[in-house]
Amino acid sequence: MPVRPPAPALASIDVYDPHYVVCETMLSANENPWDVDGALRQAINEALARVPLHRYPDPLAQTLRNLIADAFDLDPSWVLVGNGGDELLCDLALAWGGPDRTFLSVPPTFSVYGHNARLTNTKIVEVERQDDFSIDRDTVVSRLALGDIDYMIVTSPNNPTGNGLSDEDLLALLEVSDTLVVVDEAYGEFAQHSALPFLQAYPNLMILHTFSKAYSMAGVRVGYVLAHPEVIDQLIKVRQPYSVSSLSQVVASVAFAHREVFKPRIDAILKERKRLEEALKAFNCMTVYPSEANFVLVRIPEAHELWGYLENQGVLVRDFSANPLLKDCLRISVGLSEENDRLLSALGSWIHAKGYC
Ligand code: PMP
Repeated sequence: MPVRPPAPALASIDVYDPHYVVCETMLSANENPWDVDGALRQAINEALARVPLHRYPDPLAQTLRNLIADAFDLDPSWVLVGNGGDELLCDLALAWGGPDRTFLSVPPTFSVYGHNARLTNTKIVEVERQDDFSIDRDTVVSRLALGDIDYMIVTSPNNPTGNGLSDEDLLALLEVSDTLVVVDEAYGEFAQHSALPFLQAYPNLMILHTFSKAYSMAGVRVGYVLAHPEVIDQLIKVRQPYSVSSLSQVVASVAFAHREVFKPRIDAILKERKRLEEALKAFNCMTVYPSEANFVLVRIPEAHELWGYLENQGVLVRDFSANPLLKDCLRISVGLSEENDRLLSALGSWIHAKGYC
């Protein structure tokens, strides 16, 4: 028999495509260029060897939850661990979205938010960012003041533009209504400021963090949110009970307990970012947007063609040029210094051949 159609919401949904092809130099997914190694890798391996594989995992990852709560001086009821930030963003749409519910987005931003809203039949209201990619605070605040927005997400630093959310902008969003304001700090460890100081005072604030970026563990799939327990309790209702495997829980717990080892590498990435930004600016033929994250967004003529050229040279960056809000934009993740050199050299050859500069 032919199969009957799926849920109507799927008609408007494209499969999320990270455009991930294997290249010699991978600068497209904002991963940490360093894998976990040395003594930490050994401690992880030893802990993994003791994990019982025949038992279900702890549903709420209590060991890791307690470690995270301790680090932020919170009760564990303020923390929820998920299978990467992605799972928690989906839980958020299930719990705060749905038919007759409204999500406010500030594009250009991480496309997964809109995807989750469409999946859950949530209405999407968009307030575009300004030319420098900061949020259009007055318009967002007056839209929130209408009182019909159930949740909004601001990414800080924003992916793919790299800029952060100021405290003034955040406070304006938190104070105008009871909308759940989610600050996605997936790249927060690279940034100067955070929404954390406002967490306890604002029951309508939720903060998302991940182990995928600063902690070098995109493959492990662990993220967490911090929010008032009333918010966490609602997310617990919609989540898959065993979504974070015992293996992932153990890896993330050992890593979090030793998180100081990531600090020098975060600092090295920031130093490399600065070098990369300066070298890109020196080409004098592209806009290099200021970044607080481990990636840099550039706007350059014929970006799509350049993306193809770089891929051919074995350097993969992320092409956003088809997005009308990111015309001619490419996002470059900060890699190891030799990887960044390869990018700069390929870019230099292309620019030279084009006679731009
Ligand atoms: N938020 C943002 C802004 C991201 O860029 C990403 C990863 N690309 C995520 C959340 C999700 O990360 P993960 O699922 O790997 O924790």
